[in-house]
Amino acid sequence: MWGRSRRVWLAAVALVALVALPGQTPAAETRQICVTFGLGSTYADASPRRNGIWIPGQPSKDAGETYGRTDQPFPAIAMLARVRDASGVVWGWAPLDEHGCTGEFETPTNSVTLEYYDWAYFADDTGVVAYDCWSGDGCSFEQADVEVTLETGVTHYELVHLKPTAPMFWATVFSTFRLSLVHGLPLYAVLTRDETGTRRNLGGWPTANYRGTIGDSRGTDHSKFTLAHEWGHIQTILATTDVLASDIDYGYTPSMCSDDPESENYQPGCTPSTQHAIDSLEYQSAASVEGFANWYAMSVWNDESQKQAVYIRPRSADTFLAIYYEGEYQPICAEDHCPQGVANALDWAFALWDLQARAQLPGVGPHAVGGLLAAAYPWPKPQDFWQHFLGTLPEPVAGAWSTIGGDFAIDN
Ligand SMILES: [Zn+2]
Repeated sequence: MWGRSRRVWLAAVALVALVALPGQTPAAETRQICVTFGLGSTYADASPRRNGIWIPGQPSKDAGETYGRTDQPFPAIAMLARVRDASGVVWGWAPLDEHGCTGEFETPTNSVTLEYYDWAYFADDTGVVAYDCWSGDGCSFEQADVEVTLETGVTHYELVHLKPTAPMFWATVFSTFRLSLVHGLPLYAVLTRDETGTRRNLGGWPTANYRGTIGDSRGTDHSKFTLAHEWGHIQTILATTDVLASDIDYGYTPSMCSDDPESENYQPGCTPSTQHAIDSLEYQSAASVEGFANWYAMSVWNDESQKQAVYIRPRSADTFLAIYYEGEYQPICAEDHCPQGVANALDWAFALWDLQARAQLPGVGPHAVGGLLAAAYPWPKPQDFWQHFLGTLPEPVAGAWSTIGGDFAIDN
């Protein structure tokens, strides 16, 4: 047995010597991969103000996808990835950079394997994790592998066979990249079968749920304003202040009736509204929270250096009508003469945008505006909301906000 093993060993040494001869082995090259998502036809992203020109009257039917910042191609910002070649791991696990690029690594081959998760990790310990609770039984969070072949000198690689979570994952990561009010927390985006909303469900962590598209019926998973709106709830409600569900009253009806026997407006048989629509009137508690989420989405998809902004939310019947433009915007509450303690969420959103983009107050940037929600909760009674809110703001914000509140009819 000894003799035979020795012969095999000697043969192996000879083989290694042969392939290691100079000129026979490709030299290791320094490489880098920059990953983009091929969201293409399902998720275009172009600005109505490209070249600084706005063309009223020419909104695309597909307005949910065609307004906002131009950010193509869609880089896999901060996505956790690693790269293997035949010899083993050559880069990662590590987050890709803001352009979706790995760091440089050495490999003798142009063909490597990219491994990645729907998980983005930022330097401040904030993570965005996307679960797929839609396309299979239960929820999945799987590693994906793809063979990448790059010619020498080429770094760009587009992922084309994407998970159902890809548009949702990209939009939430981009939102966090653009405006993160949350730091040091894992944040979850979940593709669901039935609901869109913000909860604490995965282990009690802040979770944005997005209903997936069913057949021809468009879900929220591909609508970037809706994706950023729900993410805005996480970024504002759950990050800047601890607003409880019991702090928010979605029950306003124009007749002011209440089904709560404890309420002074109690009326037997009253059916309060529980659905907030883009043009509906709400108690200030609901209007402000929804307005902050709208403002967040506006801040993600509009250019904050511009005074003008759009916020779009597709609705089922006459979709995409809610396209507003600063200067043309007519506050909903101004027309409807909202009673005390009542406002509209879109009015709130444009007022917040106005504070952020037009007031040009020292120190009033997106982070400061996002943090204002903390000043709004809790308050004693709906009627006291405005004065309570105003009274907690520092100058010069309070003075500016007093004027803006009147302009946008939210000072009720
Ligand atoms: Zn909302």
